[in-house]
Amino acid sequence: MSSAQWKAVPARDVQVVTSCEVRQRFRNCGQPGIAICQYCGQSFCAQHGARLADGQEICSRSTCQRKKADLERHFAYKEGVGRRNEERRCGEADCDEWPGGQCSKCGGLFCPRHLEQREVEQRRSATTTRVRGSLCRHCRKRRNLWSQV
Ligand SMILES: [Zn+2]
Ligand SMILES: [Zn+2]
Ligand SMILES: [Zn+2]
Ligand SMILES: [Zn+2]
Repeated sequence: MSSAQWKAVPARDVQVVTSCEVRQRFRNCGQPGIAICQYCGQSFCAQHGARLADGQEICSRSTCQRKKADLERHFAYKEGVGRRNEERRCGEADCDEWPGGQCSKCGGLFCPRHLEQREVEQRRSATTTRVRGSLCRHCRKRRNLWSQV
């Protein structure tokens, strides 16, 4: 076998499914992995995660399951905000103010009262920079979860 086939690649570029890395009490599960979790980047076995029909691959770790549930909620939220914005209302439920600004995370339009200036991370290729941005209440609440690995 020629050595060229073994050229080192950065670990994050190529992910290989290894044995299941989900922790069980004091050690990893270790059963044959079936896929790599799209959130934590770890291999999981058939018992510790699922490959969904829409192509998502998510392990059973509670943080990853919470991210999955959060994304479903988030899409529903964005739909609701979009509908309210079409009627020229603030994206916050029960607020009929004229929207004056945009949330830098979800892109929804909100009145000044329902937007807060915060530092937000902006990811451009490999670097993450912190900039001032406006966030709606929903997106502020989501940040804790998504900062967890
Ligand atoms: Zn995971
Ligand atoms: Zn497992
Ligand atoms: Zn938002
Ligand atoms: Zn409002």
